[in-house]
Amino acid sequence: MTDINKEQVLKVLAGVVDPISKKGIVSAGMVSGLQVKDGHVAFAIEVDPANGPQMEPLRKEVEKLVYAMAGVLTATVVLTAEKASGHTQPSQQQAAQQQSQHQASAISPLPGVRSIIAVASGKGGVGKSTTSANLALALSANGKKVGLMDADIYGPSMPRMMGITGQPVSNDGKILEAMENYGVKVMSMGFLIEDDTPMIWRGPMVQSALEQMMRDVNWGELDVLVVDLPPGTGDAQLTMAQRVPLTGAVIVSTPQDIALLDARKGLNMFRKVNVPVLGIIENMSYFNCPQCGHRSEIFSHGGARAEADRLACDFLGEIPLDIDIRTTSDKGSPIVISQPLGELAKCYRAIAIEVAGKIDDVLAERETSTPKIIIQ
Ligand code: ADP
Repeated sequence: MTDINKEQVLKVLAGVVDPISKKGIVSAGMVSGLQVKDGHVAFAIEVDPANGPQMEPLRKEVEKLVYAMAGVLTATVVLTAEKASGHTQPSQQQAAQQQSQHQASAISPLPGVRSIIAVASGKGGVGKSTTSANLALALSANGKKVGLMDADIYGPSMPRMMGITGQPVSNDGKILEAMENYGVKVMSMGFLIEDDTPMIWRGPMVQSALEQMMRDVNWGELDVLVVDLPPGTGDAQLTMAQRVPLTGAVIVSTPQDIALLDARKGLNMFRKVNVPVLGIIENMSYFNCPQCGHRSEIFSHGGARAEADRLACDFLGEIPLDIDIRTTSDKGSPIVISQPLGELAKCYRAIAIEVAGKIDDVLAERETSTPKIIIQ
């Protein structure tokens, strides 16, 4: 994760020249009110009021330049003539105001979607996608209206796992209709790109791809949208955490991942951006032998529960390492669907009950902490 700071922004701005005075905008003291917070950058460019309209292209150019920096989520640049009249303070306020408007609009809710949860992991290969798919199906089996968004744009796996082929259609040329299987609405970059196309994503592209996949899609009415995040705790995860109104996050980890503290990074990232962590799921917790049915405790099973305690975070449940979980997902019919009455489906459904309860808790708390307007 890149933490952008003021110095980095100023360094980039130092290379920008005012087309009228031919001076650097930083060295000429034209940059004011610079604020950098959690990837959101805002500042004002002081201009002579007489030159205002001519400076608009410069403003746009500078905004684009800053937005393209790694770690920048939003860039807001305003032109101001305040300095000429001797007041620098209002320009800072103006920039701050625009910045907060920007942030507010960036996290506007998704219409019709009651809650959004992110499924994250400290690193790849721990079963995050498998867990996301089965959790979504288990929530649905428990009676919820569910969507599943594959935000893993580098290695989208939901089309295969959810057994969906083809491409989403658009009825109005603007909004894509979500794909659907087993009663769950699904959206994935995998539907939109050719299978073997190597994708080279740059920071801003990742941000807009994720936002579009979330916002320019008709999800219909949903109780829960489950978002399968890319593995790790980099920019894409941070973008999701900040640009999307997440209700909470679920961390998937294996016992050895817990031991290696990878899960902790995920947890800390969400805490840093004030997204409630609903809890930890331990995947590949113990081994069910396909031959004899014997259960072996591998990799110090139970580590997640203990670690969750230490981190003051809830433990949502454990899923065994079972070959059926892998084969059924590979075939496009995850275990919750293909063996709905089996023990494994029960594990997922129990976790889904826990998760749904936590979502209700967060929503109820938000409701009570939102100031209400009382008309007497
Ligand atoms: P991630 O999304 O964390 O990279 P995946 O969900 O793609 O991980 O899982 C990695 C591999 O492990 C896949 O082959 C998947 O089928 C398998 N897998 C995941 N969870 C389990 C499990 N509980 N038991 C057996 N195999 C599993």
